[in-house]
Amino acid sequence: MQYQTSLTRGQPDDEAVKLLQYYEHMAIEYDPRGYCVSTSEGKDSRVVGHLMRRAGVRHYYLHNITGIDPPELIYFQRRNFRAYEDAGHLTYDVMYDKSMWTLMLERGVPPMRQMRYCCLSLKERYVPEQGRAIMAMGVRKSESAGRAKKRDELEIVANGRKGKNIIMPWDDDENRRTFEACQKFAERRVNPIAYWTTADVWAYSEDVHLEQCQLYQEGFRRLGCIGCPNASRREREMQFARWPKFREAYLRALQRMIAARTDKGLPLYPHHRSAEDWFAWWIEDRTQETADEDQIALEGW
Ligand code: SF4
Repeated sequence: MQYQTSLTRGQPDDEAVKLLQYYEHMAIEYDPRGYCVSTSEGKDSRVVGHLMRRAGVRHYYLHNITGIDPPELIYFQRRNFRAYEDAGHLTYDVMYDKSMWTLMLERGVPPMRQMRYCCLSLKERYVPEQGRAIMAMGVRKSESAGRAKKRDELEIVANGRKGKNIIMPWDDDENRRTFEACQKFAERRVNPIAYWTTADVWAYSEDVHLEQCQLYQEGFRRLGCIGCPNASRREREMQFARWPKFREAYLRALQRMIAARTDKGLPLYPHHRSAEDWFAWWIEDRTQETADEDQIALEGW
């Protein structure tokens, strides 16, 4: 395995272990439970958990229940959490405040790539279980252009979402000093596999015999919320074919949105007049091309 970005670094897994060991004292200072591994138990966060255990650093696990994760991933996560508990780690399952269906009804529009309001609520909201812990995540720069630009190994999150997050690779002393000393910001994160490619994740899992969710063997490349607007059309079609009950749940939510829109006397585009039409529009790639224009009209909720 080799980093794509720096020739001066060693093996990525050794570097990740060093990073975690380097900041362990700080993680314990922030929270006596140590790092908080935010995990869905998808392949990336599963690798982060393994690196934590291998590094021998203090940490615990936090899982956000979204209500729209694949059932197989949920069973896998529950089994893993029991194993982590048996190994002496704390684990937390945190229930959502509002379901995806409630969020859709409140917003009057399904989540779209340009408008991922659900992430803020289902995955990224602050929960008391995380305390002041340094969060450890399986974010990787190679996953998207946005992540390549906006994420890095060390992150200091702007208070109250005002201002910009500070992001830095951890490979120089000044970055480390900034990460340790900055007082203005709310949350610190480490992303030990920020520079890993997908191939690195699979090579590592194989090398250390780390079991991954069976759904990857069925052709799913990324696991996460069923119907996520970040997934490609092909992936979403695969998801809805595999878990048709979720398709029905989205259709019911769209039907409720149409009824609410009609009650309020708000306009409906031709492609939004039935739940099926709206659903087809939503999972088409065209949704992403036209979302900006349509969104303007849809935002009048
Ligand atoms: S559906 Fe996608 S955008 Fe929404 S919470 Fe899940 S991962 Fe985030």
